[in-house]
Amino acid sequence: MRHTKNNHKPKKFINSKITNALMNNFDGMIPNDAMRLVSHVTLADSGCWEWDAYIMAKAGYGQCSYGGVVMTAHRAMLTMWHGVWMPPHIDACHKCDNRKCINPNHMFWGTRKENVQDMVSKGRHNKNGSGLHGSEIPNSKLKESDVIEIRRLHSDNPCMTRTEIAKRFLVSRYTIGLILSGQSWKHTLQKDTP
Ligand SMILES: [Zn+2]
Repeated sequence: MRHTKNNHKPKKFINSKITNALMNNFDGMIPNDAMRLVSHVTLADSGCWEWDAYIMAKAGYGQCSYGGVVMTAHRAMLTMWHGVWMPPHIDACHKCDNRKCINPNHMFWGTRKENVQDMVSKGRHNKNGSGLHGSEIPNSKLKESDVIEIRRLHSDNPCMTRTEIAKRFLVSRYTIGLILSGQSWKHTLQKDTP
């Protein structure tokens, strides 16, 4: 007797649902590449379509080739979904903070400028009325070098969300918003520019 067949049944069922969603939404896809993309997706409880093939070690994004171009898997999916090849300065950004996710409904095309404006508008209120700033504030977990690094990370990686940056520095998303909008740590702003 053989018991080795059909190990992947649940995954194939999930993929057929995703495939149907794709077929109903986009009529200009590159069929072979589209099927390969879909075959590497598993559906998470969150609704994320998680890429289960090659993940770039440092960035944490999936990677694949689409239309003969090597790119991140989430960018490939968004390209396929909209049927439009965006120029490189337009980023495929996640709303869900899940870098493995290639669900097109969890992504949007954004320019760096739009991302920055979004951050600024969300981080506008400054509750620190103490007159102190930066590491003079009691219990401040950040050093000036951290703040400079946070601004650098944000400007180099426009897709990186405040939540992701906050996790890395063990502070709140709100704190990151204040720093990026220039509401806090104003005195370090000059140090950013050489
Ligand atoms: Zn997602």
